[in-house]
Amino acid sequence: MENIFDDNYFMKKALMEAEIAFDKGEIPVGAVIVIDNKVIARGHNLTEMLTDVTAHAEMQAITAASNFIGGKYLHNCTLYVTLEPCQMCAGALYWSQINTIVYGARDEERGCINLQTKLHPKTILKGGIMADESALLLKRFFIERRNLN
Ligand SMILES: [Zn+2]
Repeated sequence: MENIFDDNYFMKKALMEAEIAFDKGEIPVGAVIVIDNKVIARGHNLTEMLTDVTAHAEMQAITAASNFIGGKYLHNCTLYVTLEPCQMCAGALYWSQINTIVYGARDEERGCINLQTKLHPKTILKGGIMADESALLLKRFFIERRNLN
């Protein structure tokens, strides 16, 4: 039997979060955190609504996951996020000691890879899952916003 709980399955959930951000006029980035094929936390970018530069999707999801677990470490967790984490989120993920990070689209300019932000040595980083869908949503957001101005 085919396992439906693959990376694409959970990245779709993260994309749904990104679409919620889009509808709120936020830069559309979404995240979910998963343990044992179960989503325990969701988050989407809320920097405009909360007027808070730290309100990235990953930060929301990390806080929600810690609340769910009742502990600060996310050892057995996998984070799915539609865009490669920035330095701040990679830093927070470092402290969480998360098991795996799976991202969608690359962020060559502000992502943690090119900026060489250190992840926890135990953390596995995987990318390119539904990258086109994630990037397209971001592109659509910036085109629509440009047309409004
Ligand atoms: Zn971030």
